[in-house]
Parts: sequence; C-alpha cells; structure tokens
Amino acid sequence: MIIDMKDGVYMSYYLKVLAGLFFPRKCSNCLVVFDEGEYNWICERCMAGLSAGGMGPGCGICGKPFSIDFQTSSYLCGDCSSGPPPYDLLRSIRGYDGVFKELIHDFKYHKLPGLGKDLGKLLISFMQKSGFPMDFDLLIPVPVHKKKLVERGYDPPFLLAENLAREFHVPISIKCLVKAKRTAPQVSLRRKERLQNLKGAFALAGDGGAARGKRVLLLDDVLTTGATMRECSLVLKEGGADRVYGVTLARA
Ligand SMILES: [Zn+2]
Ligand SMILES: [Zn+2]
Repeated sequence: MIIDMKDGVYMSYYLKVLAGLFFPRKCSNCLVVFDEGEYNWICERCMAGLSAGGMGPGCGICGKPFSIDFQTSSYLCGDCSSGPPPYDLLRSIRGYDGVFKELIHDFKYHKLPGLGKDLGKLLISFMQKSGFPMDFDLLIPVPVHKKKLVERGYDPPFLLAENLAREFHVPISIKCLVKAKRTAPQVSLRRKERLQNLKGAFALAGDGGAARGKRVLLLDDVLTTGATMRECSLVLKEGGADRVYGVTLARA
C-alpha cells in the first residue's frame, strides 16, 4: 500500500487521538488531563504559574536573594563583595519549594527523565526573559559521579543541557569536567565541612583543554550551598576558561 503525505498526516493524527484515549496526558502537578501542547508532563497553566514570580532582587553576581527590595542588580552580597567567586554570574529560576520542589524531586529521584524536557523549556524561557548573558559557547552539565549515574540510570543536568544545546546551537562537553570522587550530600554538612567535602572532587580530564578560552555555561538542577558551582568554576577557570556562568532550576 502506498501512503501519500496526506494519508500519512491523517494517520499520525488518528494515532495520536487513539493514544490520547488510552494514555491521556495527565499534568504531573495538578493531575488535570490535557491535550498535546508545548509541554509533555506539566500543563500550560501550571507552567505559566512556575514561570511567573521567580527569585526577586538579589546579588548581582551570585543571585542570593535580598530581603530588602533594592530594585537594582548592581548590589553585591557580603560574600561576593569581600571576595568575588570564581564564576562570573549565577542564577536560578526560583526557590526550591512547593510544586517546583516536587517536580524537580520527581525528575531527579523518581525516574522521570521525561520531565527534563519541560523543565529545560522552562529554563530556556527564564534565561531569555531575565537578561541572562547569551554569549556562552560551551555547555557543561555539573558532573555526577559514575556510580551514582549507574544507580540512577540517567543524568539530570545533562538532560537539561540537551535542551539548551538544541535551542541555542551550542555544544555540550561531558568529558572536560569530571567528578573524581564521590562526596557526601552537601545538605548534611556544616559550612566548613562542605568546602572540605568538595576539595578535589572535580577535575579536568580527557579533553580538559576544551574549556580553554571558552565562555562556559555550567548547568545543575538545584543549587544547595553553592559550593559545587564554586568548585567546578574554580577548576574550569584554572583550566583557562574565559568566563563561567552558572544556572540552576532552583535555589534551596
Ligand atoms: Zn497542571
Ligand atoms: Zn553574592
């Protein structure tokens, strides 16, 4: 049987309708059944709610939120003004709480890698709307230790990076920066222990020279203490990276 283009289009339409009957899309957040749209896991309404608001005013470098509304981004927090961090800019879409926290938790721990696409889209729209510098020419997802990768079966920061690579036509490097040792979860440690915990945890490997002279965009899902971003940026800058920007979905 020969199917011309028109028949093909009808067929794919009917297949989609059929699939919709048997496997309706249910929003991971509000559980409403929704039609095919821009997103696969979260309905448009919930996505719009997540894009609105955001972090509010914060430090011009690390993005740490201020309790007072300064209405400008030229102020720096105490840490950044006493000694600038190794990265040039760090931003997150919003705080790590409520629905957003649940979604990221599902994405990371409940084996729902498909959510990465929707969260990636959210990240892209945040960067475009918030005036995030777009002159990066290399994407580096914050590396996950090999053993952890095998346990989980997928790499959340890499899935986010894939979306950005497609949108901005920028290459991803996963060989340049590696996690050299497995570390205890940062949240369980005190400030001093956190820095100690990550000492030597990341290293340049393989084509480590890939970052030389580049403006790198480091990606991670959640910013907890900021020490991981700090350590990765330090290693990249020591390896000759021209600039390092960091972006995460949420900030704890
Ligand atoms: Zn919803
Ligand atoms: Zn700061």
